[in-house]
Amino acid sequence: MRGFLGAVVDQVKLALAIRSLLLPRPQDMERRAKAKEERFRKLLQYAYDNSPYYRKRFEGIDLKTCAITDLPTLTKADMMANLDDIFTDRDLTRAELERFMGDPANVGAYFKGKFAVCHTSGSQGQPAIIVQDKPAILTTFAAQFARGKKLSRRFLPYIQQLLYPARFSIITQKPGFYPSSTFFNYFPERARRYIKLQRLSVFDPPEVLVQKLNEFQPNFITSYTSALETITRELKAGRLKPSSDLEQMTNISEPLPEPVAERVEKAFGVHITNVYSMAECMALTCGCQATHGSHLNDELAFLEVVDSNGNPVPNGTPGNKVLLTNLYNLAQPFIRYEIDDIVTMSATPCKCGSLLPLVQSVQGRSKDQFWVNVKGEIRDLPYYVFLLALHNETNLAEHQFVQTGVNRFVLRAAPLPGQTLSVERLRQYVQQSVTAEGLGNVIHFDIEIVDRIPPEESGKVRRAKNLFGPPPATAAELETTSTAEAG
Ligand SMILES: [Zn+2]
Repeated sequence: MRGFLGAVVDQVKLALAIRSLLLPRPQDMERRAKAKEERFRKLLQYAYDNSPYYRKRFEGIDLKTCAITDLPTLTKADMMANLDDIFTDRDLTRAELERFMGDPANVGAYFKGKFAVCHTSGSQGQPAIIVQDKPAILTTFAAQFARGKKLSRRFLPYIQQLLYPARFSIITQKPGFYPSSTFFNYFPERARRYIKLQRLSVFDPPEVLVQKLNEFQPNFITSYTSALETITRELKAGRLKPSSDLEQMTNISEPLPEPVAERVEKAFGVHITNVYSMAECMALTCGCQATHGSHLNDELAFLEVVDSNGNPVPNGTPGNKVLLTNLYNLAQPFIRYEIDDIVTMSATPCKCGSLLPLVQSVQGRSKDQFWVNVKGEIRDLPYYVFLLALHNETNLAEHQFVQTGVNRFVLRAAPLPGQTLSVERLRQYVQQSVTAEGLGNVIHFDIEIVDRIPPEESGKVRRAKNLFGPPPATAAELETTSTAEAG
């Protein structure tokens, strides 16, 4: 009886959470702003009362009236150095969490029956441990169901869903404690009857992916850009036979360049939504149904786009990093948490009609930002300058640009199966593109033809990779360093 009642209570909780997150109408905006303000104050007070770290950091700040910009920021290094004190529940300790995640049998289990856990990979710098409470997990699902438009249409008519559950393929890695697995590791029992999940790994050979997708015939496919490109090639080659009721594809975790999105959409004939989120705030956005941007679930988080000095940048301008405040996870408060992503917020309302702010583009990590020295002036070099060069190369399967030195770059290019690539032709395309930017005599690049671009340990592929390092503040400094190194 307890089990039955528990299930009903869970079902009602999920339904209420979904209802509260249905897309806002103009008349809802004032009420939403007030609710957000309340949630923000509650988070600050909760962190102060329960986290020894935040109690110290918030000393002397009036948490009832302060502006968000009055609060200190938090780096990942700081967080990991003080992890036990950041947690708001003394049942959480780093040592125990690490032991728990060391046992693969614990994937999908709640730590001490209460907390969902994951860790980011070390390939992006220092790994971070992320803990979410059960209400946070519920909020993440509710946001996705309420605002992933096609899902909500399929999800809400419960009866229909019981008869025809949507088939949902996720191509990431084998289930594990990495962030993009978390959503599916903790997929609630009560949602499983509406959705059939198929989990595939980007490390599977393409022929295995194709066979499994052909068998399962998904309505929805979620993956990284690089894997969506792989299955697009398989479709074009006639090996992948998608379902005629494929409704939507979704990109997560990797930046989605516009030309790639267009190619995938044209091949499959469905819209590709693009979700910008991270383990620290999995409900941050939902993909826009009309563009390749992502709509901020702005009652659940603050996302401040700032320059390298932490000053806000206007909408329409790319920032250097973002400061994230997660308003719905009380177990491990993220308050003005620094994330190394180059994000641009849209300066105009979205054409889809949503009233939620639009994350127009995410170019990836600022650490991978390219730069050049043009006659003593240090300049950022957007990756799209190179990307544009590759539009004309129809034999190209995959690519990666790497900065290896001052004004030195390498293009790694992999041909489509059975095709060949010409180094000379690729060189011509890249040369044309950089010349159009006025950099024809500035940039030196080498071209390597490879069989494939291997994914990082995380399963993702970085299309733009800076192996050399960040730009110096001035070109003069660069010369000093080079001379010192040479000596
Ligand atoms: Zn939109």
